[in-house]
Amino acid sequence: MKRVAKFAAAVAVLALGAVAAGAQAYPERTITIVVPFAAGGPTDTVTRLVAESMSKDLGQEVIVENVAGAGGTTGASQVAEAEPDGYTLLVYHIGMATSATLYRNLPYDTLNAFEYVGLVTDVPMTIVGRKDLEPNDLKSLVDYAKANKDKVSLANAGIGAASHLCGMLFMSAVGTTIVTVPYKGTGPAMTDLLGGQVDILCDQTTNTTKQIQGGTIKAYAVTSPARLDVLPDVPTTEEAGLPGMQFGIWHGMYAPKGTPPDVVARLSKSLQIALKDPNVAARFAELGTKPATEAEATPEALKAKLEGEVSRWKPIIEAAGQYAD
Ligand code: ASP
Repeated sequence: MKRVAKFAAAVAVLALGAVAAGAQAYPERTITIVVPFAAGGPTDTVTRLVAESMSKDLGQEVIVENVAGAGGTTGASQVAEAEPDGYTLLVYHIGMATSATLYRNLPYDTLNAFEYVGLVTDVPMTIVGRKDLEPNDLKSLVDYAKANKDKVSLANAGIGAASHLCGMLFMSAVGTTIVTVPYKGTGPAMTDLLGGQVDILCDQTTNTTKQIQGGTIKAYAVTSPARLDVLPDVPTTEEAGLPGMQFGIWHGMYAPKGTPPDVVARLSKSLQIALKDPNVAARFAELGTKPATEAEATPEALKAKLEGEVSRWKPIIEAAGQYAD
């Protein structure tokens, strides 16, 4: 072999070695998952369960950082700008798709600012009220909200949050707007619902199941097509007379654009392992949700989901003409 060719071959071997060593070495330190809502809420709960299990698989600490504000877009912006090295990740729900239209001045480009790790879970919503709220079923709640539109208050986690979307659908069923109270997440909103400072909340089962079971709040309906095993007495929205309110709140895990493909692949694998962890599956079941399947917890599935959901919600939001800015 000529000297130049020998040199080139040696460089290539070294480079390959470095890539392999990089992939093997990752992760070498703590990974942070940004949750764009307050601690104690549904996105936080789901992410902490998954993070604990991923940490066992990855052999490094995986911690959750709550960066709340603007319906989740504050945390998403932070991750879009983070170093793309696999040490900063994001778990954001359906709001990732709706905020693309709701916020006309987003500081990041939703479909191009992230690498996709995979889908995490799809959680039904529940329409709940404070324990002593007068109406006992969804139809009476709609009538009550109509009659008391200036008095009754509806909590949400900011424009773009799942609770905001669900609240908008509820208001369109009521046929009028009611007073909304924004929080940094539905964790703090639930605290105020329990304390009677706010009347109604529309939130994921991951945040409401325990309280419904304990009788500390009133449940009016669940937005899934069938009743849930953990909440057998709660009717579906269809049974309760609002068939248009059927939907689920899906969550995805993202990394900043430019995160190396081998690192993203390692994270997807780890997410898939976490979602099959019997402890995670059991806790998800108790909270009325199911982990994403192995095929769903992939970059391809999340990319397809996000693209589909951005297109699905765009005309709906544009027709409503309600923007966050
Ligand atoms: N998931 C909640 C919502 O969108 C927010 C949260 O997780 O705290 O309303």
